[in-house]
Amino acid sequence: MTAFSQIPPIEPGVSQELAKWRSSQYSNISYKLNLILEKMSPVLGGSMEIRVTQAAYACAEPNCPPMAIILDWRKIPGHETDSTISNVSINGTALSPRFSGQPPEGGTPSSFDERNDHLIFRDGVNMGENVIKLDFTSPILTSGSAITRYVDKEDGAEYIYSLFVPSDASTAFPVFDQPDLKARFELDIRLPSGWMAVSNTEPNGNLTQRQCYNLPPTRPLPALLDPKKQNDVTDSPTIQIRQPDDFNPCNINEAGFAETKPISTYVFAFAAGPFEEFTDAGGVGGNPSGSEGAQRGTPSNSLTLPTSRVSASTADLSTHIYVRKSQAAKFKPHAAEVFRLTREGVKYLETYFDYKFPFPKYDIVLVPEFPFGGMEHAGATFLKESSVIFPTEPTKSDQISRALLIFHETAHQWFGDTVTMKWFDDLWLKEGFAEFMAYKTLEKVMPEANAWKVFYERNKQAAYATDSTRGTTPIYQEIANLSNAKSAYGNIVYRKAPSFLRQAEFYLGADKFQTAVRAFLKKHEFANAGWEDLVKEFETASEQDLNEWAKGWVKNPGVPFATSTFCALKPKKLSPPLITSLNVQEVFAQQPFSLLRPNMDKPWGMKFNMLVAYSDGTRETLPFEFSTGTASGYDRYVNDRKPILFIFPNYQDYGYGIFLLDDKSRDYVLKNIQNEKDDFLRTMMWGSLWDSVREAELDPEDYVELAIKNLPRENDETIVSSLLGRVSTAINYYVSDEGGNPRGSKGALHGTSTTSRTLPTGRVSASTATLRTRLEDVLLDRLQHAATPGQRITFYRSFVTNASTERSRTVLKQMLAQAGQLAAQPTRAGSPRSDVAFTLRTKDKFDIVTRLIILGDPEAPKLLANLEKTEKSDDAKRYAYAARAGFATTENKAKYWKDFTANKDISESWIEAAFGPFNSVRHSDLTLPYLERALQELPNHKRNRKIFFVNGWLGAFIGGQRSEAALAIVNKFLADNPKLDNDLRLKILENVDLIERAVKIRARFPK
Ligand SMILES: [Zn+2]
Repeated sequence: MTAFSQIPPIEPGVSQELAKWRSSQYSNISYKLNLILEKMSPVLGGSMEIRVTQAAYACAEPNCPPMAIILDWRKIPGHETDSTISNVSINGTALSPRFSGQPPEGGTPSSFDERNDHLIFRDGVNMGENVIKLDFTSPILTSGSAITRYVDKEDGAEYIYSLFVPSDASTAFPVFDQPDLKARFELDIRLPSGWMAVSNTEPNGNLTQRQCYNLPPTRPLPALLDPKKQNDVTDSPTIQIRQPDDFNPCNINEAGFAETKPISTYVFAFAAGPFEEFTDAGGVGGNPSGSEGAQRGTPSNSLTLPTSRVSASTADLSTHIYVRKSQAAKFKPHAAEVFRLTREGVKYLETYFDYKFPFPKYDIVLVPEFPFGGMEHAGATFLKESSVIFPTEPTKSDQISRALLIFHETAHQWFGDTVTMKWFDDLWLKEGFAEFMAYKTLEKVMPEANAWKVFYERNKQAAYATDSTRGTTPIYQEIANLSNAKSAYGNIVYRKAPSFLRQAEFYLGADKFQTAVRAFLKKHEFANAGWEDLVKEFETASEQDLNEWAKGWVKNPGVPFATSTFCALKPKKLSPPLITSLNVQEVFAQQPFSLLRPNMDKPWGMKFNMLVAYSDGTRETLPFEFSTGTASGYDRYVNDRKPILFIFPNYQDYGYGIFLLDDKSRDYVLKNIQNEKDDFLRTMMWGSLWDSVREAELDPEDYVELAIKNLPRENDETIVSSLLGRVSTAINYYVSDEGGNPRGSKGALHGTSTTSRTLPTGRVSASTATLRTRLEDVLLDRLQHAATPGQRITFYRSFVTNASTERSRTVLKQMLAQAGQLAAQPTRAGSPRSDVAFTLRTKDKFDIVTRLIILGDPEAPKLLANLEKTEKSDDAKRYAYAARAGFATTENKAKYWKDFTANKDISESWIEAAFGPFNSVRHSDLTLPYLERALQELPNHKRNRKIFFVNGWLGAFIGGQRSEAALAIVNKFLADNPKLDNDLRLKILENVDLIERAVKIRARFPK
């Protein structure tokens, strides 16, 4: 009766067309999973029961297509034989597989098709409920699979966890792997003894420890593949059944979990292994000051089973934290704070949303080498272990990062898990809200952090950095197939989307915004919604027509580019310039980038504040609104003839855009920045001067000089941290010659540039050398004498990153020699030694050695060898592997390149740790030959690696270069590969902006 009843083409991945068709056909989905985990088994084995209701079939035409149930089932390249399906039945009828070589239609009445990552059932499909049963196996790998095995190299313990986002559940077992086919999951896992399992719900009480396990009589167990027997399986669709005797039946636990509420496949998860379990003694609503997190005593040899947990009252939420055994002692000092942040976060969000925590319990699992900061599985957030147990002495910034991570994942329990986007084109909805709500929570729970100042320092800067490149996208990103969904993750959804929400709250008013958010959550709970649904609630709450306003933000790429101008009338009596006109022009994006952007004719609506500072010390905040593309405060000032010191657009950062200062205000800021008492304004001043550097208006050397002058007096830790990051960029890319010839090597250039520098490779101009030396002086002085430990650590880290002179190598070696205690060094001025600055931890020691290796220090190999003798932890092994990537020889780079691209046994986190030292900008001549090859690897990485890997890879390989030759290589690659996936093309353009800008800035300010 409708076109919809026609089955869409079955292409690999999950096409949006298939997803839309399926969500019109199917409902009431549930999965009952019985999983079997065995120690060191190369596969996950199990059986499952899929229930799905087929919609009433309304086809009235002749030759109606048959009803079909189409599941997603994808094999991992290189491991196809580990993914098996057997014993398939539908509604009680056994089905045999019909493979792609066989006729696709009209086979026997009892078969199903396997084609292009899908299982297609036509025979035996009923209107109403259908039950499909099957057995399966799927690979468990060190990297590159949805089920990951981590073997702790310290104690040999094994941990297994799932990570399905965005659409990898279908590589573990067959599912409808799209976010708007939510399902109830019921999980039962058999585990080796000594292991425990965590999943989305509480154990359901069926938890048993079998003294001796009897195999179920009704169904044969799915095969658990023996690696030695894999060849047998390759040739036959019938997998072998493992005999009961293979099963070591007396050593098995069974963990059963209560059925979940309807959730999307990407937020279903489990983790298993010999975890240590920590229990919150505080409970939500109790003990706001934070109580000691209690560690459950679990003798290492005993059988460890999680006990069933019952909330003490409706106000309490059960929270446990699971940590691998070898790290439990290190986590213990952090337990109370992590529980407090979680508890206070839940409490604030429940109040803000007017909605109780949506799931029956909230556990946290710390996963070693987790590829993201965290993942918000419903009721069971996974966090990267090193984001919680700091590998080095934490600064205030680190503490804030950890709190934000916890709040972000907690906010997702509502935004993402309870209300979910329909499709990954609206990924920004959940990520934008989680990040925005994380800062709102930070403001309440950690008021001393100055949340919105940090939001400016981290979110806004990163958003602008991406949004002003040719690789930017709208926050709403078209995704035709979920195989492209990973590319949607990046600064636009994580940084720009929350910036839009901050603007939306300011634009609508905080009360109306909150009313709308509450209504949105209630209306779409345990279902799916798109951005238009949110805008509807904004409109209802504010009684405004907001469609055009919202579309401007959601569908347009690019950052508004605003300049304010003094129109300086100079009256006789007043010497300082007087504002008679205040124009903010909205210019979309810098030329020449704007050409690539569609829909640029309509500006988006925005409200923001302008600060006017008068010479008598008074200040005034003036509201502005963009609606037509320009705004003017002209009338306000004509009658107000007070001399003005400076004007500062986007005061307090409600707006979104690059607001360059007018010349006079910029001069004032350059001269007076350190006298500004308002930390938030001061950090924005530094940011706006940096915008001027990036726009090639301000000489980067002037910026570094200003930083060198002011850093000794700057006491705000996060300002110090962001300032040092910019100084590093300026010195390495915009100013310095060091680390390679800025014109590139071996005549790759056309060679007629009159603008770039022409110093021979490795030589450093005199002015750059003194700039570096003076920066080192400041860093050395501050790492010993700054007021707080956090500041000293911040300066120390920057020193290690920027050290380049022979003197600084000597200092690094002294630090290392002092047995972990970094005693204060005598300063150049001979100032007195202070107490111990701070203690070096394992990672610090490796950071120092890595830097010495990169600098080619002759003692570095021996120092690394010595360090490896004393540091034997799991993490230490990863650090050592990464450090070696920094040896500057052709052979070494070739060896690592082979590891990065061909060694399947190296985990992603090892590669991610190593591609930084490999690509040190000091080795750009050595690594330039790998640039094009790194770009060629992208389609492969996109297919097989986790979400953020492509971004990191490009950041490292492009970030290792700064020359016009490198730029030419990237541009040639883009020209030579017109069929490259557009998302990858955009990622390259986003990253290469660093080199484009560096070339432009060096041309504008030649030394
Ligand atoms: Zn998130």
